[in-house]
Amino acid sequence: AVADPRALLLSRIRDVPDYPKPGVLFKDITPLLADPVAFTALTDTLAELCRRNGATKVAGLEARGFILAAPVAVRAGLGFIPVRKAGKLPGATLSQAYELEYGTAEIEVHAEDLTAGDRVMVIDDVLATGGTAEASLQLIRRAGASVAGVAVLMELGFLPGRTRLQPALAGAPLEAL
Ligand code: AMP
Repeated sequence: AVADPRALLLSRIRDVPDYPKPGVLFKDITPLLADPVAFTALTDTLAELCRRNGATKVAGLEARGFILAAPVAVRAGLGFIPVRKAGKLPGATLSQAYELEYGTAEIEVHAEDLTAGDRVMVIDDVLATGGTAEASLQLIRRAGASVAGVAVLMELGFLPGRTRLQPALAGAPLEAL
């Protein structure tokens, strides 16, 4: 096991100023993905969180959430649920629109892949405004499943994402590694 996983993970995140537009400090996780020790440490930590919270499914938020959540699902022995941007899933979907800084976005899930007994852990790389995560929790509940928690690699502490997410969490944990 890695002695200090948190320090390792932090050291593998690259800050890119003014990307994709001026004023945004982009948190680039590709150095972490390229380091098998760091990627494995992250996967193991998230899989343990899934077990601790009694998750039965792991949902990844498109697109970087897919990269993190899929190996977690395999490691934890759980099913993987892709939460996709609108128009990408071929089956019967549930859609949830949410507010962006400018305009709105929409995410979707295949309703039949979630059942009433499911407890879903939502995984993404970054929690910023919390809009995407909030919409994903609404989708999970509308599909009849319950929420095991939200786990992100990073939380941007200068944005009110955690506060915004509280009502949708309804007591489920939000973990930022
Ligand atoms: P939000 O809905 O505002 O919480 O935004 C979360 C989504 O946008 C996540 O899927 C992130 O991948 C992405 N995101 C937002 N801000 C950043 C950032 N500063 N660096 C990297 N990704 C970001």
